[in-house]
Amino acid sequence: MRLYDSLTRELQEVTPITPGHVAMYACGPTVYRYAHLGNLRSFMLYDLIRRALQYEGFEVEEVMNITDVGHMTDESSTEAVDKMQLAMEDEGLAPLEIAEKYTTAVLEDADALGIRRADRYPKATEHIHEMIDLTETLIERGHAYVVDNGSVYYDVASFQGYGKLSGNTLDKLREGHRDLETDPRKRHPADFALWKAAGPGRLMKWPSPWGDGFPGWHIECSAMSMKYLGERFDIHTGGTDLRFPHHEDEIAQSEGAVGHPVVSIWVHAGHLRQSGQKIAKSTGNVVLVRDLVERGLDPLGFRWLCFQTQYRSEMDFTWDAMAAADQRVRQLRRHMKTWAPSASALGAAAEGYERRFREALANDLHLPGVVALINDLDHTADVPGDEKYRLLAAWDAVLGLDLEREAMSGWEPTEEMRSLMAERDEARGQKDYASSDRIRDQLTAMGLEVMDTPEGTRVRPRDPS
Ligand SMILES: [Zn+2]
Repeated sequence: MRLYDSLTRELQEVTPITPGHVAMYACGPTVYRYAHLGNLRSFMLYDLIRRALQYEGFEVEEVMNITDVGHMTDESSTEAVDKMQLAMEDEGLAPLEIAEKYTTAVLEDADALGIRRADRYPKATEHIHEMIDLTETLIERGHAYVVDNGSVYYDVASFQGYGKLSGNTLDKLREGHRDLETDPRKRHPADFALWKAAGPGRLMKWPSPWGDGFPGWHIECSAMSMKYLGERFDIHTGGTDLRFPHHEDEIAQSEGAVGHPVVSIWVHAGHLRQSGQKIAKSTGNVVLVRDLVERGLDPLGFRWLCFQTQYRSEMDFTWDAMAAADQRVRQLRRHMKTWAPSASALGAAAEGYERRFREALANDLHLPGVVALINDLDHTADVPGDEKYRLLAAWDAVLGLDLEREAMSGWEPTEEMRSLMAERDEARGQKDYASSDRIRDQLTAMGLEVMDTPEGTRVRPRDPS
């Protein structure tokens, strides 16, 4: 599978450092408000990359951070009030209550959109120690300096590759900062905080070798990605707005600390716009998952809507397009119900569709191609209905559209079937194909269609009525 790497600006083959095992880090939510569909489109990207890699037989380990210590609206001033603290004051909740409330909310919204949970969700507030350690390492290696109020800044001029991700040069950055108020203690206006001294009234603060304070925003992702995935890992994802400064600074921190590249491929999700405007709280056009539900739309329809645009392109959200996507997913589910499954193998035409599906995924996760392929498959007379069913049921491991919902409605495998399926998956895991075939025959004799999917054995009645 090839993905577009934002750093080299080229397609790169995913070749995991540990063969067969892909380690991936995704920048997660800042939990002081609800995630909007623009945020969730970025989170869906890691889910789709993971599902596509699993379809190709890779194991994928996924870490997503939870930013539960607010980052400053103005990096240069210690007095600026951060967003987390504003939310606490607005809602009358303690810091951990705010974080808890919105962490639960964002995970539930992600569930509703079929975004599978990461293996780990490390919280910034639980990794202050690691961030302090990393900051100390950067000071020792000459990449950071302490100023008299107890803040620590990264010295951007000390890191040769600064700007390589975003294309920002230090001169351009100096120019860009000219009209902004900046801490006069900084050596270069683009120097960013690794640790900030706690100003008066600051609720979330921790002791450090430089006095009470709190971490800068970027350091958490360096500290937590390397803690859980090591000093070299395969894929790092995030929204395109994180390229600068967040990911540029993460590269400077991580590579500055370990002395070599850490991430093999940087993947960024494009912006979501609404009727031409960026979706943001400041423009007042925020759409939440609950807004979809209130309009009677299936949140999974938003997946289909997203599939129509290449993940790294800007995408426009309109309610008409959302409604059409919702209708299309429901229609596909109805079609699935009419396509009677059978136990036969795929014919040559269906095999061709399967090959094209894999090719589209491997080509930088080209989901617009998959949408076209599904529309084509839906109508073609070359593939019999039962084979269409088998293809779409298997592809749904990547698509996550719950395409079998109608066909399977009102039917659940019995306890006996479930234990046979589990037994068969275990036999397959141990490459005991004789047992796995025997169990398949048992299930078939019970009147079931048996399908092998990346998630193991699936069954459905051969006569769904
Ligand atoms: Zn991050």
